[in-house]
Amino acid sequence: MTAIREKTGECRQCRSFCDKMVEPRGCVEMRCRYLYSFVDMLNGVQYVGCMQDVFAAKVELDAVLQPGGFGGVKMTGDALPHCQFSVERAYEGSGESYDCVNRRFFDCSDSGPEGIQAFDLRDV
Ligand code: SF4
Repeated sequence: MTAIREKTGECRQCRSFCDKMVEPRGCVEMRCRYLYSFVDMLNGVQYVGCMQDVFAAKVELDAVLQPGGFGGVKMTGDALPHCQFSVERAYEGSGESYDCVNRRFFDCSDSGPEGIQAFDLRDV
């Protein structure tokens, strides 16, 4: 099998090709302290983005707040424990070629100051 380069938020280790998606609406609803907004002075449109670069896209706030929501945007960074993300598969299939071989891909980050750390008794 040919090696395929992966970016953060992507897993290409089996034939399913999974991407992590974060819902900006969830960021707004939980009033995340890392969510920022700005108004584009050229068109007067207000956009929101993530200071942690969990997603790099700048999303129109009105679209995010529409009934039904805007949907997910592709994650470009590691999710913090409170980020609401889902994993979308590009291809469905059955058999060994489609079996998940990277189960930690479904977890949030366990590194960095906000990562969930395992309790390690050797520290005492
Ligand atoms: S840190 Fe997570 S919850 Fe907060 S704005 Fe970024 S993606 Fe949304």
